[in-house]
Amino acid sequence: MSLHLFNTYSRALEEFRPLEPDGRKVSMYTCGPTVYSHAHIGNFRAYVFEDLLQRHLEFRGYEVERVMNITDVDDKTIRGSLAAGVPLSEFTAPFKRAFFEDLETLRIKPAGAYPEATDGGHIRAMIAMIAKLISRGLAYQAEDKSVYYRIKNFPEYGRLAHFDLSELRSSGRIKSDEYDKEHVGDFALWKAWDEADGAVRWESPWGPGRPGWHIECSAMSTQLLGGQIDIHCGGVDNIFPHHEAEIAQTEGCTGQKFVRYWLHCAHLQVEGQKMSKSLGNFHTLRDLLAKGYSGREIRFALIRVHYRAPLNFTWEGMEEARQALTRIDGWLERFREAAASAPHETGSSPQAGGEGFGDALDEDLNISAALGFLFETIRETNRLLDQGSLGQQTAAAWLAWWQRIDTVLALTSSGDEIPAGVLQVAEERREARLAKDWRKSDELRDQIAALGWEARDGKDGQKITKRGGL
Ligand code: AMP
Ligand code: ZN
Repeated sequence: MSLHLFNTYSRALEEFRPLEPDGRKVSMYTCGPTVYSHAHIGNFRAYVFEDLLQRHLEFRGYEVERVMNITDVDDKTIRGSLAAGVPLSEFTAPFKRAFFEDLETLRIKPAGAYPEATDGGHIRAMIAMIAKLISRGLAYQAEDKSVYYRIKNFPEYGRLAHFDLSELRSSGRIKSDEYDKEHVGDFALWKAWDEADGAVRWESPWGPGRPGWHIECSAMSTQLLGGQIDIHCGGVDNIFPHHEAEIAQTEGCTGQKFVRYWLHCAHLQVEGQKMSKSLGNFHTLRDLLAKGYSGREIRFALIRVHYRAPLNFTWEGMEEARQALTRIDGWLERFREAAASAPHETGSSPQAGGEGFGDALDEDLNISAALGFLFETIRETNRLLDQGSLGQQTAAAWLAWWQRIDTVLALTSSGDEIPAGVLQVAEERREARLAKDWRKSDELRDQIAALGWEARDGKDGQKITKRGGL
């Protein structure tokens, strides 16, 4: 079976064929965070989906070269640094650090490169690209000294978003308070410096200023992955104008098709609305960790719905994720035991697994079907074990199968991670202590101890550690 992906550009499922002639190398560009605050779990839905895609491509034998940009200069970062009274790089540094920690918590594979927009080499590449666009009549400097893309000279503009831009294509210049551009849809490539930018400025042939957000991705993807790439991803809100602008910029410079497959994930929602900073309806990863959920529980909660379907964030959903992992953990424990001590089997080497999991993901990452296959497998093999008709070798074969599919899921409990079952008891104990029910609290402490963990109470609440550990 071959891999099919839904391409936003054609709005169709297409067989995946990478650019490389031998067909094993895949280049992938993923739009990264703007580091003016902690990313929320809506953002991480996009990054977890991209991780699932990368891991499945690798499962299928591709070698993935992935790049993710870090936007460390824009209106929000500048505003934040001015408000905090520190230089821009000092303001963004802790958010960059936190972002990398969060990626690790969610078991997202590191990208090959994380280019930063403020890097001098990348700024030069952006300036070179803008100069080329101007020389081709695709960009111009306006009276406000900023440089804009001239969308009317790029007939493909609007193809990705399937927008009819004719309404936007009004004639004549449009004045606004802020700037003077030829067309309302023209977007900034270079933003002329003004006082609100403080010390943030780079020299350019058009005077001091800073790059626009869109040119960042065009320049960095071209520099690091070349003018043509296989896959470009983001959330659906990136389609327009950001990715549309990237196409106009890159193809305007190279004259070649920029991206073969555009993939976009639907939003993580809260009560029917996009989770976002501006609506204030967001949770950061750290908020959820503080509530006692582990990184892999949050990973599971974000991964379990097909990437093109909206996913509603609910606390019940978090509990379901916890239960699903408890089920997987329990199954693995049983099968590890069986692989060590179940009756020895004779005869031909045992078969386990089959292709159901990978085949489901080949269909545009159909994770619901893949997980359905996994949980059906767990049910069925548990039944066989109960009946005594599954022996040592078969158990080992199922474990090997799990290890293979877990290169995609990344959900195996690492020994030092507090198991979901223990966390559940710890949560009950926290509530008992809040209610000053000391007897129940002590009982639950014993339960935690029986599970091999220890609850210690400090001024920040209880800490759960491995028994005998620190
Ligand atoms: P931003 O920092 O807003 O540019 O977003 C970074 C990435 O997260 C982009 O790929 C967005 O499309 C994506 N994103 C933002 N909000 C959500 C959401 N609620 N659900 C899924 N993806 C999102
Ligand atoms: Zn981008």
